[in-house]
Amino acid sequence: MNIEEIYKEANALLEGHFLLSSGKHSKFYLQSAKVLENPKTAEKLAMALAGQIKKSGITIDTVCSPALGGVLAGYELARSLGVRFIFAERVDKKMTIRRGFEIKKGENILICEDIITTGGSALEAAVVAQSMGANIVGFSALANRGFCKRVGSDKESKPTCKLPKNLPFFALADFEFDIYESDECPLCKDGSTAYKPGSRGN
Ligand code: ZN
Repeated sequence: MNIEEIYKEANALLEGHFLLSSGKHSKFYLQSAKVLENPKTAEKLAMALAGQIKKSGITIDTVCSPALGGVLAGYELARSLGVRFIFAERVDKKMTIRRGFEIKKGENILICEDIITTGGSALEAAVVAQSMGANIVGFSALANRGFCKRVGSDKESKPTCKLPKNLPFFALADFEFDIYESDECPLCKDGSTAYKPGSRGN
């Protein structure tokens, strides 16, 4: 499966001048919501990811995603794996698990995101699930931005990767493109202004 092709076909691989949540600038942006707006595509991607995870032999009771980005990917993944799905969400910037979701002591939980960049939100979801008794068995995402080492890739993690090194990270593909500090951004130097993805109808 060529995931880059699937993102391109769904107009989910955007080109422009983007201000990322990290404050850095980039010429490209992955809008997973555009890929997942088609449930058939979402199902196909989740089945491929589930296949990879099943091969690893780890036991999963529940998939947990940080909202909002990870929810669709995580829900479809849970369906493919035949397990329960819950989500974590930010309340006053703090990641929490609410809505009556319960976690049994020692419950094997896999964290799922749509895209892992440094894995910050995924790690926060893991920490809160763990504080409720979960045994975190790994991390997963449809796409990897190339900062963290995924299972099956020989590219090492970069120092900015926040995922724990002792747990597996599953993803369908690496999308590596340059990210710039705002004062070193060549697009800014060319005179354009970075904007937040989503703020101009994308
Ligand atoms: Zn810029």
